[in-house]
This record gives sequence, structure tokens and C-alpha cells, in this order.
Amino acid sequence: MMILEEMSWPEIELGLKETNTVIMPLGATEEHGPHLPVFTDTIQAIEVAKEAAKRTKTFLAPPIHYGICRSTRGFPGTITVSYDGLKAYVYDILISFYETGFRKVLLLTGHAGGQHMAALEQACQQAVVELDFRVSLVSLFDLIDINTVETPGDGHSGEIETSLMMVIRQDLVKGRPGYHFPRRPMFLVLKNVKPLMGNGIMGDPSKASLEKGKAFFEMAVQGVLRALEEFESFPEN
Ligand SMILES: [Zn+2]
Repeated sequence: MMILEEMSWPEIELGLKETNTVIMPLGATEEHGPHLPVFTDTIQAIEVAKEAAKRTKTFLAPPIHYGICRSTRGFPGTITVSYDGLKAYVYDILISFYETGFRKVLLLTGHAGGQHMAALEQACQQAVVELDFRVSLVSLFDLIDINTVETPGDGHSGEIETSLMMVIRQDLVKGRPGYHFPRRPMFLVLKNVKPLMGNGIMGDPSKASLEKGKAFFEMAVQGVLRALEEFESFPEN
């Protein structure tokens, strides 16, 4: 296992002779219903990235624990950053990966808010325009086959995330609340969505199970492995 933060520089130098690929997990610090911890997105990305790194002997970088959270803003424990802040920070990290010898960087995000993804995409885009290296942006949620999920439209803190957390940190799963979707306007731009968010769940945690969690986890790992393969198989551009 090449866990970057636990290695000394000579060990990293040696490791770079074996591979110049690194996976960096990203997440968010935000409410995840009354039953899941606020680092749910981050720990999911960390654990999936760790498993993929282990199977492929690639580096695992320290995670980014903060992201852009809009719909969960105002809940105790939701700590969000600005669009420009995240974009600049991730861009800087990508450039520094290059400087230290990495040529393939896979960002795996456990949080997938619209602005969050857009900021990451722009940071990646800017980095690959400037430097000759490969960067992939993978959203963990996209790796789950929705045909295997019982709850239509299951999202934040629902069936998928609760199942995954039962595998990753069962000790931090405080029950399985029922179906809950906030009723939000289709077109209206609101100043504050918090009053509409109820308990903060957008899905159905009661449909979660350990078995599903194991299946979702493996799907996510397989997805990351496909993204790693793409580094090699996709022609240079
Ligand atoms: Zn989440």
C-alpha cells in the first residue's frame, strides 16, 4: 500500500519509479440526515480509493475534506467553501502533483453537488491545458448502477449512502430512517433552502442493507479501476 501521507520522501521517490499514478479522494463536510456522520462523502471516497489503490499498487493521496455544499447549508456541521476557493485549491494541488513527479492523477469525489463538480472540472481542465499530464475526475455516485437501487431517485443520505456506510463505518450509522424527499421548487431560485430540507435526507435509508452496501462498494471500486485503465488505454491528445 502506498499511502502518500505515511511515506517518507525517499520512499515516495522509490515508489514513483514503479508508478506515477495517484488517487486523491475528495468529499464534503455536510449534514447527512439524522443517522449518518458529516464526513460520509469523504470517508466513502477514501475507502473506495484505498481499495482501488491497493489492488493496482497506485499511490493514495491525503483527502480533501471540504467541498461546496448548497442544499445542506445552514445545518449544524455543514461546512462549505466557495467555488473559486475550491477551484483554486484543487488546481494548485494538481500542479504540485505534477511538480513532484506524478503524471496521472485521479480525483475521486464522494460529493457530487452541481457547483462542486463544476469547480473540480474547471480546475482539472485548467491543469491539463497547462501541463502535460493526465487527470481524471470521477464521481462516486456515477459508478453505482441505478438499476440495482430500489429507491427511485435515491440520493443524499438515502439507500445507497446508508448501505455504503454500513460497510465502511457501521459504528457511525445511527439507525435507518424512512423515505424522505424535500419538496423543492422546480424553477424558483431560493435564498435559503434549509427550511425545505426537513431532516436532510433525499432518499430512502430504510431500504439500506449491508449486502447492498457490499455490492455498491464493489461497483464503485470497479469504476475506479476502469478509470485507471483509461489512463493507459485512451490515446494521448
Ligand atoms: Zn453524501
